[in-house]
Amino acid sequence: PVVTRFAPSPTGYLHIGGGRTALFNWLYARGRGGKFLLRIEDTDRERSTPEATAAILRGLTWLGLDWDGEVVSQFARRDRHAEVAHEMLARGTAYKCFSTQEEIAAFRAAEEAAGRYPVFQSPWRDADPSTHPDAPYVIRMKAPRTGETVIDDKVQGRVVIRNETLDDMIVLRSDGTPVYMLAVVVDDHDMGVTHVIRGDDHLNNAARQQMVYDAMGWQVPTWAHIPLIHGPDGKKLSKRHGATGVEEYQAMGYPAAGMRNYLTRLGWAHGDAEIFTSEEAMKMFDLSGIGRAPARLDFKKLENTCGHHMAMADDAALLHELQGYLAAAGRPALTETQEALMKRALPFLKSSAKTFPELLDKATFLMVSRPIVPEPKAAEALDTVSRGILKSLTPRLQNASWTKEALEPILTGIAAENGIGFGKLAAPLRAALAGRTVTPSVYDMMLVIGRDETVARLSDASL
Ligand code: GLU
Repeated sequence: PVVTRFAPSPTGYLHIGGGRTALFNWLYARGRGGKFLLRIEDTDRERSTPEATAAILRGLTWLGLDWDGEVVSQFARRDRHAEVAHEMLARGTAYKCFSTQEEIAAFRAAEEAAGRYPVFQSPWRDADPSTHPDAPYVIRMKAPRTGETVIDDKVQGRVVIRNETLDDMIVLRSDGTPVYMLAVVVDDHDMGVTHVIRGDDHLNNAARQQMVYDAMGWQVPTWAHIPLIHGPDGKKLSKRHGATGVEEYQAMGYPAAGMRNYLTRLGWAHGDAEIFTSEEAMKMFDLSGIGRAPARLDFKKLENTCGHHMAMADDAALLHELQGYLAAAGRPALTETQEALMKRALPFLKSSAKTFPELLDKATFLMVSRPIVPEPKAAEALDTVSRGILKSLTPRLQNASWTKEALEPILTGIAAENGIGFGKLAAPLRAALAGRTVTPSVYDMMLVIGRDETVARLSDASL
């Protein structure tokens, strides 16, 4: 069974590159009936904070990436990591090294002076234990000195590292603490991880990590090192390109399903599939579809993708997510009345909005309360003549049945009687109903707010 994991270091917010890495792991596992695990790599005690962990969990939760089982803390497993270092010692695949910093520096300097690449070779590698001094030591992995380590990477292809270029990595420091590179391997092994899908900034680590697997006689996972995300200009993504944090995208009002779809396509392709649900993505997602070149963030495409998902969304779910957006953006929540109106308006509002701020903008007519103060441009449409027309319209609305079919002849009729086109009637209606020049269709607005409110707003405007 497939087991993947996301292993962020809790030193900041969830970056969208991290979000995409998590997404790829999630899709890969979910599409194969496997498990997706979450491990917080909090071994750097100086830089790791509980706030960062909380932010990462919030970001993943918003993206809809649910993980299996408990969140694993790497730091909490340090005794196990140390235990494995001693197991390596017992297996003879690691050794105690008593070399001091000065000795190591001197060795390297001599190698450099001789024109060689300074790879430290410990004199303790094959020393007889009876000669060991009673002094501090580190545990080093007994790495192969000759030959090659081959990383069979599902994205990068065959990556060959000459073993002579790598020194015997320290696995346990002299104070007994494990190094990060050991911790990753032990955790991945113990968690049963079968596929390591992560940023290609970790490709260099894979060779040493693979040596640890070999030293312990453990099964090496399938590697897939994915290229980073770049900005629209092809340079490494940074703040100057725009938002880099997953939660910033939530606060900007992108729907999570659209964000997921967009991030899935960012560096992965499957034929010409562009717009799909997560269920569809799970079925399609594979490692062979991941590109080798860095993907470029394209905000226009993100918006368009989000627009499709807004339109596709289930109304109740969308309403729930809208409330989440308002909270994330620090905007006031919908009142009960607004929520009830929103429920009725969503079927048409959602089809023309790409983000929640856009949706709310179109929903202005149901957020405002009487008396509506029209924007200056809209106010111009409420001239004396138009106000008179609105006044003559209200009694006809009193007895009409409240359907588009019934309202249409009334509005077109009154326009015809006054010798004006429907557009000339719609402008004061928009101003009266929403206080704006650009609104959803007047019928949609009237049907949502209902007869009493419509009549009241028209009366207010025709005073
Ligand atoms: N903790 C590492 C990071 O945040 C990930 C290590 C891994 O995936 O193996 O970059």
